[in-house]
Amino acid sequence: MTNQLSRRTLLKVGASGTALAAIGGCASMSGGTPLGPVVVVGGGYGGATAAKDLRMWAEGRIQVTLVEPNRSFVSCPMSNLVLGGSRSIDQITVPYSGLEKNHGVKLVHDMVVAIDAAKREVRLAGGGTLGYDRLVVSPGIEFMYEGIAGMNAAAQQQVLHAWKAGPQTVALRRQLEAMPDGGTVLISMPLAPYRCPPGPYERACQIAWYLKTAKPKSKLLLLDANPDITSKKPLFSRAFGEDYKGIVEYRTAAVVNEVDAGGKSFKTEFGDVIKGDVLNFIPPMRAANIARDAGLITANNRWCGVDWVTLESTAVKNVHVLGDATLSAPAMPKSGHMANQHGKAAAAAIVELMSGRTPSPPMMANTCYSYIDDKNAVHVSSVHRWVPDKKTIEPVQGSGGISTQDRASWALEGNYAWGWAQTIWADMLV
Ligand code: FAD
Repeated sequence: MTNQLSRRTLLKVGASGTALAAIGGCASMSGGTPLGPVVVVGGGYGGATAAKDLRMWAEGRIQVTLVEPNRSFVSCPMSNLVLGGSRSIDQITVPYSGLEKNHGVKLVHDMVVAIDAAKREVRLAGGGTLGYDRLVVSPGIEFMYEGIAGMNAAAQQQVLHAWKAGPQTVALRRQLEAMPDGGTVLISMPLAPYRCPPGPYERACQIAWYLKTAKPKSKLLLLDANPDITSKKPLFSRAFGEDYKGIVEYRTAAVVNEVDAGGKSFKTEFGDVIKGDVLNFIPPMRAANIARDAGLITANNRWCGVDWVTLESTAVKNVHVLGDATLSAPAMPKSGHMANQHGKAAAAAIVELMSGRTPSPPMMANTCYSYIDDKNAVHVSSVHRWVPDKKTIEPVQGSGGISTQDRASWALEGNYAWGWAQTIWADMLV
């Protein structure tokens, strides 16, 4: 088959404008022998991107089925703005139908409950199986409540995480709206690694902005299990110290291991009991259940090891794992932008492997914006490349960085941040 294909190499360009992965010959593949099928589990940042790019880059020759329970994608990036009140949940929701209409991805709204790697098939909760040549698994994260006293199923309905965007985002916003002026919001965040390093600090800013503008006598206490701010430290320190002085209190090394949902309090491992009016508990995390049940987890009972050239699991052949579920390469954040890059790298590798060629190591880039209030945002960015002798992906020295302290640029970045969201949603889903 390789001989029938032109050896022309295309460079695909990602949401960030970064060249990502070299694909040999796919421009001349249309009309050739069908390849696949590929099944994609999970239509988030990783899975939706992989499904669309597999269809585009193989020019329709790979039959792609995306299994995702939700009818619409709701974005975690920008969901903190819904808590702050400057955006609505509708503004961060995109239907999945574009993938089917524009790209011929077959959509199955269901859950995958089992993966049989020997038979190369997945079993669906609604009954039936789907066979695959290669499987892409991008199921995101699950929360580790088992070490947290008091967080039984009933408590989880009251003390929300809102760390998967959707109904909990709206419910937490309602709790904030119902809180009287003069109340206290408590946020507990876990030790790294967790989904979205700057996310909890952005959330503190967004809720503090709401309190400052609507309930100025109120306070917010951020209990960070880490020894220090884990991302964009000089920028968040300034926001907490200047914009939200007298509203935000930030405490380090505060590991919460007990929650009293009825009494509305957190207890730290040092025995301090802290009472609040609205409690937001962001638990420790691991790869989602389907990754665990399929034997894809390889590190600390939490994350899935992959080959960073193909994103193929190091534990199960022909299964590619993407996004937050992966055991991150050095200094690689668990972010939507990075999951989108994983989706492109895996799609490129699968097209190559199915065409009998050797995949090229990918480049990956990340940009993560955080809104300080309703208009101003700051960023962190990085570029990551394959290091052959270490067989991993590492940040390129001197690449990326964080925003300057120039406040005028933060206003400009507020526009860039919303533009980033529109662009990446279109890249994944339209
Ligand atoms: P997800 O996007 O979570 O997708 C997983 C999908 O798999 C879900 O749709 C789920 O329904 C589906 N699924 C799970 N199990 C199954 C199953 N068994 N069968 C079928 N489907 C299944 N990142 C950024 O880049 N920039 C930001 O500004 C940013 N801000 C954030 C703010 C917040 C508050 C949060 C919580 C996160 C933020 N992130 C941000 C991080 C980003 O949301 C994640 O890194 C990203 O969603 C990871 O993509 P994923 O594909 O791994 O998982």
